[in-house]
Amino acid sequence: MSEIPSRQTACWIVNPGKDWKLDIRHDVEVKRPGPGEVLVRMECTGLCHSDCRNVLGMGEYTEIPGHEGVGKVVTVGLNVNEDLIGKRVGIKWLWTACRNCSSCSQGRANNCSKQGNTGRTCWGTLQQYAVADAAFVTHIPDGIASEVAAPLLCAGLSLAGAVSLVAPEVQPGQWVAIIGAGGGLGHIGVQIAARAKGYKVIAVDGGDDKKELCLRLGASEFVDYKKDNVVEKVKSMTDGEGAHAVIIVAGSERAYEQAPDLVRNCGVLVCVGLPRGDYHLPLSPIQIANRGLVIKGSSTGTEAQMSELLQWNMDGLVEPRIEVHEFGEAPAIIDKLTKDEVTGRMVVTIP
Ligand SMILES: [Zn+2]
Ligand SMILES: [Zn+2]
Repeated sequence: MSEIPSRQTACWIVNPGKDWKLDIRHDVEVKRPGPGEVLVRMECTGLCHSDCRNVLGMGEYTEIPGHEGVGKVVTVGLNVNEDLIGKRVGIKWLWTACRNCSSCSQGRANNCSKQGNTGRTCWGTLQQYAVADAAFVTHIPDGIASEVAAPLLCAGLSLAGAVSLVAPEVQPGQWVAIIGAGGGLGHIGVQIAARAKGYKVIAVDGGDDKKELCLRLGASEFVDYKKDNVVEKVKSMTDGEGAHAVIIVAGSERAYEQAPDLVRNCGVLVCVGLPRGDYHLPLSPIQIANRGLVIKGSSTGTEAQMSELLQWNMDGLVEPRIEVHEFGEAPAIIDKLTKDEVTGRMVVTIP
């Protein structure tokens, strides 16, 4: 194993807010793993729409963004099995959790109120050496390339979690509409819902590029919000009643305005995409009560869902569409993400 340096290259947020800048620095400290932690030499990381929140200062974040990275463990802290050294692992948004609360106790640490998050409570994956909690890294099977595994750690897991929530109300063969189906998260959701779970998917997004992608990945129908009357079109496909479930992946307010009109009575709305923090659902208790709507929230997914997703990838059911770029392009890619100009998932290699 090569020597671990004391300084490293990393992406560093300067001036978070509307005039944000992302510098590439070569003098960033390499942190050492504490008890229960490991140090990971990063190989690559996916860039997620929520990295925009870090640079735009939409909350308290650290200077280094990135939360879907893959690398090899190079050293371990106290109380960590040394067998982990040399193993390929993934670092996810869920950096750590309390392991005691009722969410943690039922295997849903992703909903723990005391969780720590990569890029939020500790430096993210856009650095050469990242410290991770040994109990929360994901082991990457040999059959999966690092660049493919990276987007599964956040984009993939978020949609595995979200699609799982349409059950038990919705059965295979019933309609699931996905708003924002052609983006970095949505296109993985289409595959999970259609191929792994057997739902009939109505993909809602804009443009022929996204239409072609969604239909190829298993969607039964595509509705183009730029051209079509989305509500009329979805109703015409679903006996006039609407979809059995609507998964709102797009983080736009418009998507949340539209979703209640796309779901049938007794149907399920799953909230995944994140509009600004003070935005509220446009639904009255009367509507929810009379229509018998079920509203669920999804924030990433469980470790069991992560394993299931990696297996689906090895079985050829779920394949993220990725573009691999060099590290130096990360600032430009995050800029594009803030403008919604990215189809599929961008992954950068770590130098
Ligand atoms: Zn993410
Ligand atoms: Zn907890």
